[in-house]
Amino acid sequence: MAKLIQGIGAFLEGLLDAVYPQNIYCLCCGDSMENSRIHGICDVCAEKIDWRTENTLKRHMEEFAFDELFMCCVYGFYPRQIMSRFKLAGNPYAARPIGRLLGERLMMEDIKPDALIAVPMHKEKQKKRGFNQSELLAEYAAKTSGISFVPGVLLKPEKTASMRLSDGRARRNQLEGSFAVSPKYQEWVKGRDLILVDDVVTTGSTADACARLLKEAGAARVSVLCFAGTSGWEPDPERDR
Ligand SMILES: [Zn+2]
Repeated sequence: MAKLIQGIGAFLEGLLDAVYPQNIYCLCCGDSMENSRIHGICDVCAEKIDWRTENTLKRHMEEFAFDELFMCCVYGFYPRQIMSRFKLAGNPYAARPIGRLLGERLMMEDIKPDALIAVPMHKEKQKKRGFNQSELLAEYAAKTSGISFVPGVLLKPEKTASMRLSDGRARRNQLEGSFAVSPKYQEWVKGRDLILVDDVVTTGSTADACARLLKEAGAARVSVLCFAGTSGWEPDPERDR
């Protein structure tokens, strides 16, 4: 039975390749490229991306509820292009090469987390976009790394009003109230070592709100895995007053 399911999985993957030949065009510049580029990014763009394996928020870590931040690159011009093709243009197939990259990034770490979980999206927003990018990335990162992805652990019952990024503290408070640990997973979370997947981390406030809730629910450790993270993040000036 397991073999059969595996076989069906491989078949569906192959079918997805046929329907969405995602490696023909670069996710970043849109130029055609050899389909051997499994990450969906052409050599020219790949060279221009500031790939990072260190945590750019390291010096601010005591301000966050998450324990570690694993990022693939700095959120500059090229990664922005990739994210806009993926999210705004509504190309869910782009999740596969990017998710694979996330999985490979995770495998560079000497860690054994229990599961990957994703930053949730409000139902209405997800309906509009057609998919939750973090969930798709987590799914493919899980396939690559062999660490299981558990969907639906976090919920986002409340919508977040858009706020200026500089309104740090207000944003954090508001954000924390907009997420919830699913009642179904309240027990499951206890004592777990979790990897929270997000597409992009800028101020860190979303990841922080999610990690705080998970820790309050009893998670032992919460680290964040993202495609791109900001490099020039400055502490909230209000916090220094
Ligand atoms: Zn390119």
